[in-house]
Amino acid sequence: MKVFKFGGASVNSVEAIKNMAHIVADHLDEPLVVVVSAMGKTTNLLERIIPGIPKSDEERRALLKQSEDYHFGIANELLDDGDETFTKLRGLFAELERVSTSNPGNYNFDYDQTVSYGELISTTLISGYLNSIGISNEWVDVRQVIRTDENYREGNVDFETTRRQAQETINSQFTIHNSQLIITQGFIAGTDKGTTTTLGREGSDYSASILSYCLDADSMTIWKDVPGFLNADPKFFANTVKINKIPFNEAIELAYYGASVIHPKTVKPIQNKGICLNIKSFIDPSAEGSIIGPYSSIEPLTPLYIFTNNQLLISIQPKDFSFIAEDNLQTIFAVLAELNIRVNLMQNSALSFSLCMNYNEILLNKIRERLESQFRLVYNTGLQLITIRYYNQQIIDEIVGDRTVLLQQRSRTTTQLLVDSK
Ligand code: ASP
Repeated sequence: MKVFKFGGASVNSVEAIKNMAHIVADHLDEPLVVVVSAMGKTTNLLERIIPGIPKSDEERRALLKQSEDYHFGIANELLDDGDETFTKLRGLFAELERVSTSNPGNYNFDYDQTVSYGELISTTLISGYLNSIGISNEWVDVRQVIRTDENYREGNVDFETTRRQAQETINSQFTIHNSQLIITQGFIAGTDKGTTTTLGREGSDYSASILSYCLDADSMTIWKDVPGFLNADPKFFANTVKINKIPFNEAIELAYYGASVIHPKTVKPIQNKGICLNIKSFIDPSAEGSIIGPYSSIEPLTPLYIFTNNQLLISIQPKDFSFIAEDNLQTIFAVLAELNIRVNLMQNSALSFSLCMNYNEILLNKIRERLESQFRLVYNTGLQLITIRYYNQQIIDEIVGDRTVLLQQRSRTTTQLLVDSK
């Protein structure tokens, strides 16, 4: 059994969905679970109609209409007039209308109840289309399969229940009902109370990995608009090199440092079971792509670059000129933990502790509120964090150019440089 994941860009138009159908049809020699994201930028749009977010009812209705027009525009091209999928889609949009007009309550809860419709709609449309062209498939509601706690917007997966439910719901489709193809949603999950949760933005890779783990898949494949795992994001770098083989640990490190090619939580479940993860191009599906697997080093061995923009550097200095030691650090870290802040880089000297994080004005103000009685805070914004694995001095000099380095750290394999973004 194999698991495929198609992201928003691979199903964002009539042509893209037809292309996806070709890829799926070419791989039906064994049972296949296909995990699909919301189409195009739908999640971004749905984030704007969460109860309490639109400025007016007019704005909410206009956005909803925009999404309806987009999906029905594609459905009209792909499906015959009388297809039952239209009734299902109309039902989903009616539910979305109801959810988005409910009274605002807990934001995270409302978020998940609303944005989850992106995946419900995309999979309903795609499943209906595939059936209509003879690629018969079962649509599975993944909220009945992936179980999380009630940590809305970042549900924590209960792997034991998920494994049992995956065996009951998905495996039984393959074994008892003799289906060869399952279409299901990425990103969303369900609680034991029957409410909907999500796994964090870009979480569909993680969904595919959870299902691969729970169903003991032979392999997992993420279909992307790039030829594979590149040594840098082509948006920032002209001459990228495709990495053919990536060890599991290396992929975890890269995702941790912010490589956008896979969601950070994706690798662990498949690593635990030794399931290889293929990254392939949906534009050129027969090309080789990259494989994350049980290798000892990357191949070819080449420097890897990760660029993270919009960084904030805060330097924290005790007002009484005491050394930065355990007691001061404890106070600072308690605040960071309380505010759930992910530190991207940190360093301390005798009298100052510096940390780099993604810029967020609200969090910056909260840090100031909590620390300013005891510490003096200085900060810089608009910085870029560059992470280079397998670096050498020449590479560093080329990348940094004439920019100012505000903070730098080096280990044997990795260097991180925080620079101003000229
Ligand atoms: N649709 C979700 C998002 O845009 C999940 C995903 O695409 O992976 O974040």
